[in-house]
Formats: sequence, structure tokens, C-alpha cells
Amino acid sequence: MRERDIENYLVNRVKALGGEVRKVKWIGRRGAPDRLVMLPGRGIWVELKAPRVRAQAHQIREHERMRRMGQVVFLVDSIEIVERICE
Ligand SMILES: [Mg+2]
Repeated sequence: MRERDIENYLVNRVKALGGEVRKVKWIGRRGAPDRLVMLPGRGIWVELKAPRVRAQAHQIREHERMRRMGQVVFLVDSIEIVERICE
């Protein structure tokens, strides 16, 4: 399964729940998660990867900075993790 397949599944799953999904890119900084998932009352930042592919070091550092500010950041490399987010 490719990263793109998991991404498409995520987008369709969130839309089916009435949520919104946006592509994300920081201006002037690396390491932005790929997507912001919006579901009623919560926002989840998502870095997508093909199964068992790890985030790069600079991505992990950015995710940690965001988590320290209370953001919810998921590394999503499987359909199972998509389902966990959508619970
Ligand atoms: Mg990615």
C-alpha cells in the first residue's frame, strides 16, 4: 500500500463523517504534517507515510514542537490508524 492510498482512504473516511481535511505546508519552514483533519470539536495533524516508513528527523522534531503546544499529531502509515483517528 502506498502513502497515497492511505491518504485517499483518510480523506474519504473523514468526509463521510462530515469532517474536513486540508493539505498543509508551512511557509518558510520544513516539517509540516501533510494534512489537518477537522472533526467536530477537534483537530488532528496527520503525517502520512507508506506502511512502516518512518518520519524524517526534522519532521519528528517539528511534531514534537507541536505536541509541546498541545497539538495532536499522528503519524499515519496504516488504515488501522486512520480508523483510530476517526473513532
Ligand atoms: Mg508524508
